[in-house]
Amino acid sequence: MANTAIIGGGIIGCAIALHLLENGHTVTVIERDAGGLSASVGNAGILAAPEIDPLARPEMLLSAPKWLLDPLGPLSLRWQDLPALTPWLLRFLLSMRPARTAAARSALLYLMKTAEADHLKMGAMAGISGHIRRTGALTIFDTAAARDKAFSGDEANARLLGNNVEKLDVTEARRRIPALRGDFAGAIFNDGYQTFEYPLTLLRRLQGVLRERATLVDAAVSSVEQARDGIVVVTEAGKRLPFDRIAIASGIWSRRFVADLGLKVHLETERGYNTTFVDPAVTLEMPVFFAEHGFAATPFEKALRIGGAVELARPEAPANYARAAAMRRRMRRYVPDLPEEGGTEWMGRRPSTPDSLPVIGLHPRDPRIAFAFGHGHLGLTLAATTGRHVARLLDGENDTALAPFSISRFGAG
Ligand SMILES: Cc1cc2nc3c(=O)[nH]c(=O)nc-3n(C[C@H](O)[C@H](O)[C@H](O)COP(=O)(O)OP(=O)(O)OC[C@H]3O[C@@H](n4cnc5c(N)ncnc54)[C@H](O)[C@@H]3O)c2cc1C
Repeated sequence: MANTAIIGGGIIGCAIALHLLENGHTVTVIERDAGGLSASVGNAGILAAPEIDPLARPEMLLSAPKWLLDPLGPLSLRWQDLPALTPWLLRFLLSMRPARTAAARSALLYLMKTAEADHLKMGAMAGISGHIRRTGALTIFDTAAARDKAFSGDEANARLLGNNVEKLDVTEARRRIPALRGDFAGAIFNDGYQTFEYPLTLLRRLQGVLRERATLVDAAVSSVEQARDGIVVVTEAGKRLPFDRIAIASGIWSRRFVADLGLKVHLETERGYNTTFVDPAVTLEMPVFFAEHGFAATPFEKALRIGGAVELARPEAPANYARAAAMRRRMRRYVPDLPEEGGTEWMGRRPSTPDSLPVIGLHPRDPRIAFAFGHGHLGLTLAATTGRHVARLLDGENDTALAPFSISRFGAG
């Protein structure tokens, strides 16, 4: 069977590796920072199946200017990075056209419909169960009008996905989550959301399985070369490693390999921040989204994580942890018992495309190479589904429903 390499050992790379092993490949995962704190380690841990709407929607044009005025708000732009981000931002604006939004939504729906089942199957492949809790999630709103507007969209999505949503008043929301003692106007409960075990634990467990069943190479890849009899992965230390097939799953850093392979992609980072409290004094019964402020709080077994927001910036720009503090401050309005100090702050890089669709597909001229990156806000949710599709594609199966995720949509290199 094929000797296949995956560049990147984040959640997407691990999911591809497990599926390829299942299909009989000899698998090597090449990861430059196996103990690191990538996006796959610090995310909010939510299986966000209801989120089938792309970020680029016409209504963004109404909210974005207001948000951009607040340097610590839900959406910020590092202005000195504007020249580097401009091509992505222009594509983002073009993606807001109603026909494109509708197409992105149905493409995401296709992936989301199997997200939970794929995760359960992947867990079984890795010998892991009980890692996803059926919690649902609560979204709270500052005005009843905002809740009612959101409810109609959530209801429409729930009909497509077959889950339930409920409109709640403040009393009922507090009955379900007593810590919400601050002021708000109402809430929506959506049972389509689920909560993973602590993301660091999940990733380390998957990497542990791969250590036993595959080869994990601790190296930074500097380039990828196409040869007649295989694909050569070149490491920064100068090693040349030949493989039959490869999958590129290096998050935001995938774009350098796309260029090596003569193709083009618009991929930038939506950076997010959070704070994690271990053994927190506050208990939440399920994740809570503070929708109008662009962040969420997720309860894990022994931790509470508060974070989110979007900062458009170059991946290597210095972190601004004032954003994490701003979210804690805002949350205390709703959950006054949240401690002021004591948590651990983190910044992560969501690898994002302008149309909110991940790149999942083969190189248009070389079926030995697969791409799997650009999952933005949904990489944990869609990891197992991506792994299943990529393994099928590398084994020569075709799926026309994956056409919207092709790298060809970005044009020639
Ligand atoms: C604040 C925040 C909250 C989030 N919450 C959620 C959530 O609740 N639910 C959800 O579904 N998603 C969530 N996400 C998104 C999710 O975390 C990402 O989409 C996902 O982790 C991306 O995974 P990845 O494997 O593509 O990338 P990464 O996790 O970035 O992994 C890429 C890996 O490639 C390696 N690599 C890169 N270059 C090289 C090289 N040259 N050589 C070798 N190795 C290399 C890196 O070291 C890294 O380990 C959140 C993200 C953030 C920032």
